[in-house]
Amino acid sequence: MEYKSDSLKQKIISGERISPLEARQLFEMDIIELGYLGDMRRKLVFPQEQVGFIIDRIVNYSNICQAACNFCAFHARANRIEAYELSSDEIFAKIEALLAAGGTQVMLQGGLHPDHTLDTYLGMVKKVKKRFPDVYLHSFSPAELVHISQKTGIDLNSVVSALKDAGLGSVPGASDLLVDEIRSKVSNRKLTTDEWCEVMDCLHAHQMKSSATMTYGMGETLDDRIEHLRVIREVQDRTGILRAFIPWSFSPPMTRMEDIVPATGIEYLKIVAIGRIFLDNITYIQAGWLTEGLKLAQLALIMGANDMGGVLMEEVVVKATGIETKTNRDEMISLISNTGKTPVQRDSDYRVIRSF
Ligand code: SF4
Repeated sequence: MEYKSDSLKQKIISGERISPLEARQLFEMDIIELGYLGDMRRKLVFPQEQVGFIIDRIVNYSNICQAACNFCAFHARANRIEAYELSSDEIFAKIEALLAAGGTQVMLQGGLHPDHTLDTYLGMVKKVKKRFPDVYLHSFSPAELVHISQKTGIDLNSVVSALKDAGLGSVPGASDLLVDEIRSKVSNRKLTTDEWCEVMDCLHAHQMKSSATMTYGMGETLDDRIEHLRVIREVQDRTGILRAFIPWSFSPPMTRMEDIVPATGIEYLKIVAIGRIFLDNITYIQAGWLTEGLKLAQLALIMGANDMGGVLMEEVVVKATGIETKTNRDEMISLISNTGKTPVQRDSDYRVIRSF
């Protein structure tokens, strides 16, 4: 057993690809050792001692959603959470505030609205791009794209093509956990794993980028977590469109899964390090300060992560679960500097705008 573990460590240090079975073994490893290996692998893929962040804003244009996922505290629910839809003027005002703060990226996100058609989405993108041509739209989600396609009978390719022509830059992965047995329990009206992969292939065909997230701590097994990573690695081998991997733990309060005990900080750091080691084809691993807190995110930066994601002015989806971690540009710079790394403001394509 000792010999096997040593050979796995050697494999990781030399940069070899590891199998799902080997990745599963890493959950048993001591966190300090695993974090060290995660950082070693980060250095092989990304030798620069710098950490990026982006000044962005999520604009949740509506919380009306027919999926009503059990793990979601954001969607409107009768007698509990009031439904809303932002007007164009309200959306514009939020983007103006972002630009005033030096921001570059907007994430327009909503639920699976029963009345929204492709034209609704095209209208939103066109209006924003007409008024703010320099704003980058990293917006919507694979679930929304499949929803529009199924609802309107317009094939996915045409949906993606029309949105790209209108000015959509890229689409966040919003992958949750790509294991259908878990999806059927926590989000049975949302897209399946195969449909998520299909969206990625479709974005790839249109030369558009995406990302992969991971929501864990929803009652899945360690094997399920590795299966999620396996699906992502295969998609990335095939397409190369995933700019980043962004794990975060499920936050139970205010959801229909309130009884679940939240995942711990050590579990989070293990997922960051294992994600870095297993996903040898993804350059950026984001430290999830929003759900894990700023101090744990700092630790993630020395265990395999190399990006802090967005400053996220006015995040409301995680806030709906009662977690409210806020940050700003100056705090982000100070947190990164404190790890001994150089903070850089980046754009949506991870190009450096400014170093600090
Ligand atoms: S997670 Fe997304 S799809 Fe599911 S209920 Fe919430 S808004 Fe709707």
